Amino acid sequence: MVLRLKCSSCGHRFTVVAGVTSWLCPKCGGLPEADYGPEWRPEGRGLARYSASLPITPKISLGEGSTPLIFRRFYGVNTYFKLEYLNPSGSFKDRGTALAMTHVIEAGASGVVEDTSGNTGISVATYSATYGIKAVIVVPRTAPEGKKGLLRALGAEVVEAPSRGDAALLAPRIAEEVKGLHVGHTVNPLYIEGAKTLAYEAYEQGFRGDEVIVPVGSGGLALGVFKGFRELVKWGLLDSLPHLHVAEDASLTRVDAPVKIGWGRDEEGGGADALLVPEPPRIKEVADVTALTRGSSVAVSLKELREALRELYSMGFIVEPTSAAPLAALKLLIDEGIIDRGSNVLIPLTGSGLKVIATVSKMLGISRR
Ligand SMILES: [Zn+2]
Repeated sequence: MVLRLKCSSCGHRFTVVAGVTSWLCPKCGGLPEADYGPEWRPEGRGLARYSASLPITPKISLGEGSTPLIFRRFYGVNTYFKLEYLNPSGSFKDRGTALAMTHVIEAGASGVVEDTSGNTGISVATYSATYGIKAVIVVPRTAPEGKKGLLRALGAEVVEAPSRGDAALLAPRIAEEVKGLHVGHTVNPLYIEGAKTLAYEAYEQGFRGDEVIVPVGSGGLALGVFKGFRELVKWGLLDSLPHLHVAEDASLTRVDAPVKIGWGRDEEGGGADALLVPEPPRIKEVADVTALTRGSSVAVSLKELREALRELYSMGFIVEPTSAAPLAALKLLIDEGIIDRGSNVLIPLTGSGLKVIATVSKMLGISRR
């Protein structure tokens, strides 16, 4: 089954197969969306449960998806934490990667190339190992040694580029050379398709909410969660869309939504490292869905992030610092009167703290000198 794509700008239909190095529309350079007719027929477990509403069915499962939804009262708000850090490689990215790697196999590629310094690379390397195909991960030279070591342990070839920007330019060139596929998670629509299953699961686990808060790195999670809830409304399973709020790092605000909270303050940022993606291609789409659901864009300072991280650990959630951004955003939204006490709020806890425990210790101020 070949993945069919449609350009979201000009409507041109196209496919991406082995040796093709760009996910963008060959006619106008627009961003692709998956071209199919989703239906609601849940059956089974994991991502395969939603095969009827996905453009592609995962061939091999590592147990991605079906993550727990944990209820806690937080500042008078009914908070539902979706434990995405319990996915196989420790992040929500596994939902998208499980689909993207199936496409790689069906497109006839012998290997994959991806540029990232974070969770996506580890996710891609994990699934490449499962499928027995070669993975080349292009990282900035400054990527933490621990992450490079984990990539190599998974059998990936690690290529170092001078910067994150250089890595992005280098990856498609390597893909062309090795006749592999560039995973391209910042544009690849399968990462949006994978992320939407998070919304389906939250619905099936009983979440009936008014508010959702997600961190925005490249934007795939926000767009996926929005798409999932929009389909649930379309199918008549929910009456209305929740407000989608996005959490950003105070040092790099990018989502130009009509309602902005915490922007322009003289506060130190930089703690939510996975959110420091300078110009993600889909950031305009994220601003559009935030506006459409009457949500907001919330900038979180290092101090607020640290405080939220401490609270998550006090509740027993072993997450990476970036995962604390939505909880920090929730506090600001309560203070501003945008989220009322008594509201139901969904917060995905996106990545595991076990991969970056040294950073976590430092941020919580408990590392030994
Ligand atoms: Zn086009």
